[in-house]
Amino acid sequence: MPTRREFIRTAALFALAPRILAASERKIWVNDVHSQLNRTRIRELLRPRTRDEFVEIVRSASRQGLPISVSGCRHSMGAQQFATDSLCIDTRSLDRVISFDQESGLIEAEAGIQWPKLIHTYLDAQAHREKQWGIAQKQTGADTFTLGGSLSSNVHGRGLAMKPLISNIESFTLINVDGKSIRCSRHENNELFRLAIGGYGLFGLIDTVTLRLVPRQKLRRVVEIVHANDLPRRFEERIAQKFLYGDFQFSVDEKSSDFLQRGVFSCYEPIDEHEPIVAKRELRDDDWLDLLRLAYTDREKAFKRYSDYYLSTNGQTYWS
Ligand SMILES: Cc1cc2nc3c(=O)[nH]c(=O)nc-3n(C[C@H](O)[C@H](O)[C@H](O)COP(=O)(O)OP(=O)(O)OC[C@H]3O[C@@H](n4cnc5c(N)ncnc54)[C@H](O)[C@@H]3O)c2cc1C
Repeated sequence: MPTRREFIRTAALFALAPRILAASERKIWVNDVHSQLNRTRIRELLRPRTRDEFVEIVRSASRQGLPISVSGCRHSMGAQQFATDSLCIDTRSLDRVISFDQESGLIEAEAGIQWPKLIHTYLDAQAHREKQWGIAQKQTGADTFTLGGSLSSNVHGRGLAMKPLISNIESFTLINVDGKSIRCSRHENNELFRLAIGGYGLFGLIDTVTLRLVPRQKLRRVVEIVHANDLPRRFEERIAQKFLYGDFQFSVDEKSSDFLQRGVFSCYEPIDEHEPIVAKRELRDDDWLDLLRLAYTDREKAFKRYSDYYLSTNGQTYWS
């Protein structure tokens, strides 16, 4: 005959069982977008639509002592955005621009916003202005990164002499373990400011970010094919000549002696604001798909076609 205490404990376990079993049996799996090497089992996938919901998830997890993980677009390939059996928060619905001060160039947005929406929003808002603001830098090679993921990885762009993204962050708000919102800047909670930027989500959840924009500039692209050995000297030269951005895209043909040695060296120099924007040659969606196919089937041809295209854009002008 069970004692009263044993009876209550057994009854409580039965009451909890559906939730415990549901969590373990549901087996929700997540993974990063590119490498797909980080398949992780999570307890629940949560997609807050408002910042209040975001805070409530943290408070509720804290009360229950449950681990949290937070992800943006899941591009990082080291599984930093997941934790086994955690409540995994997908921030991508938190994507509103909160304010844009066209006098100071400060723009505040929710952390789940992706670069294309942020950029379109400030460009649309300034369509009538002759002098416009723009971001100083973002990652290259892809656009669909969240601001929160970018801040947490302290990303770099193509700026030849720029410090990483931290140099463009004015402030942010962070949700701590109690669900409290903490404003962090160089003047307020400075230690958290330095830790959370590049902190991979370990110091709290980034809720909103205020970026300092820079004046948009007209730029000319200058393209050459160079050898990797010459790169340090060539980059030094371009920096001394006041080029603003640049990159090197090397040969991907592993059968060639040029593999990872020769590459397309492109840099961007500021030009007079009265010069026209002439960027006639650009790759269309079909061209990109063709290049992708060649990257799997014929890398020599892929690099030749890509470098020929890039060389043909030498001298074209663009807005930063
Ligand atoms: C094709 C490609 C090109 C790239 N190019 C560059 C480049 O040029 N320069 C560069 O520096 N990097 C580059 N990267 C790396 C990329 O910038 C980072 O992986 C970036 O973090 C991805 O953003 P995301 O929105 O996908 O974040 P996720 O991968 O989802 O998350 C990244 C990290 O941020 C944390 N995080 C996300 N949101 C929040 C939040 N709201 N609060 C707290 N923490 C959060 C996550 O927990 C995780 O630790 C590139 C990656 C790819 C795949």
